[in-house]
Amino acid sequence: MYLYNSASHKKEEFIPNDPKLVKMYTCGPTVYHFAHIGNLRSYIMEDVLEKYLRYIGYPVKRVMNITDVGHLTSDADEGEDKMLKGAKREHKSVMEIAKFYTDAFFDDCRKLNIKRPDVVQPATGCIDEYIKIITKLLDTGYAYQAGGNVYFDTSKLEKYYIFNDHNEEDLAVGVREGVEEDTNKRNKNDFVLWFTKSKFEDQALKWDSPWGVGYPGWHIECSGISLKYLGEDLDIHCGGIDNAFPHHTNEIAQSESYIGHHWCNYWMHVMHLNTTSGKMSKSKGEFLTVSLLEQKGYDPLAYRLFCLQSHYRKNLVFSWENLDNAMGTYQKLIAKIAALKPSDEPIDEDAVTALREKFNKALGNDLNTSLGITALYDVLKYQTNDATKLYLLDDFDKVLSLDLLKKAEEARKKAASAKGSGGEYNIVSESGEQDAAVEAKIRARYEAKKAKNFAEADQIRDELKAEGIELTDIPGGAKWNRV
Ligand code: AMP
Ligand code: ZN
Repeated sequence: MYLYNSASHKKEEFIPNDPKLVKMYTCGPTVYHFAHIGNLRSYIMEDVLEKYLRYIGYPVKRVMNITDVGHLTSDADEGEDKMLKGAKREHKSVMEIAKFYTDAFFDDCRKLNIKRPDVVQPATGCIDEYIKIITKLLDTGYAYQAGGNVYFDTSKLEKYYIFNDHNEEDLAVGVREGVEEDTNKRNKNDFVLWFTKSKFEDQALKWDSPWGVGYPGWHIECSGISLKYLGEDLDIHCGGIDNAFPHHTNEIAQSESYIGHHWCNYWMHVMHLNTTSGKMSKSKGEFLTVSLLEQKGYDPLAYRLFCLQSHYRKNLVFSWENLDNAMGTYQKLIAKIAALKPSDEPIDEDAVTALREKFNKALGNDLNTSLGITALYDVLKYQTNDATKLYLLDDFDKVLSLDLLKKAEEARKKAASAKGSGGEYNIVSESGEQDAAVEAKIRARYEAKKAKNFAEADQIRDELKAEGIELTDIPGGAKWNRV
């Protein structure tokens, strides 16, 4: 497969260090709040990468950290620890906050069919690892102590900036917010490996270290956890584009200085999900969550489809209208699959070869997921038997994870039970929205009409109208929308 490598600034053939085990590292969430759907865009696309590698036959070991200490309110070393900020906001302890939002994160992942990585490691669980690395960096002159903290000395590196073909706007995301001069730093880009002195006395989590009681910087946790579980030769490191600088740049600096050689071969960065008013951000406090999408009646997998419809290296703009469109596409796709008839017919191997080639051409070309979705329609249109089509849809769904066959089966059962209860009556909303309460009322009106109880039917229509629901009878059912 070909993958764009942010470190070499080009699309490259993916060649793992050892084809028997691809080693993949993902920066995990900072668990001081719910993940927003922008964060989850990154995790969806990274999930597709992992699943596609498995699909083409590579065993994969994927490791993710959970940031429960050290990530300050700016992505540079300034401000308050985000975890402490979350704990204060909710009048809870840092560890309570970490547990609650870690569980919430994996709940969201489950709803979006994002596979849990093989190893999930909270940063607070690997303090010895960071101390070991920092000790060596000090011994070898890559780090220095100043004002009580330990800093990495970026002037010791031949090359510090690795990802600098990204546009400055994106690179500066982390450092722009609330930058303050740290006079302990010898060079502007030096960063903290271990804090002992900080502006805030009430840092909740502290550990003993050779440099005094304190806590690790954010960047060292990913180097420590990755080196611990994946060793010194990493195949792929992933994250959202805002992580490229300074976080990943600093990870490379400290990891390679520690191990003394090249560390990671491929860097995959997912561009941001933006709203029409700009970047979605947890720190701004206003953001969209999976639960909110569900409350509004959207299937979380319609959001997954929305993400898959665009390329991970392009910024994606979220709007309700765009999500409505994705929801409509998802429902129509499921309806088409539900119309296929499962059978024991033999699988048409020629069709499988031809259609798989299309799918691989799409995903193998730097994860072109939108062409991967088109490949689903190619299957539906292809001149072959339904058993082959269902087999292929299931096969592609190992990567896309849209629950295609499961949802189609549910749709088939729903249609059958509607038939059993007196004929098919289809209720659709113009926006693709599903609302069980509205649908139940519309069905009740239909039953009343069938029983010639027109007064009751009219009353239900009036009730719906009062709730802002407009109803139009269509052949074989009814269509509704909110006015
Ligand atoms: P955080 O929880 O802030 O540490 O971020 C978790 C992941 O989400 C990281 O990989 C970030 O780079 C990524 N991320 C943050 N904001 C966005 C966004 N608006 N769109 C896509 N990914 C994002
Ligand atoms: Zn990281």
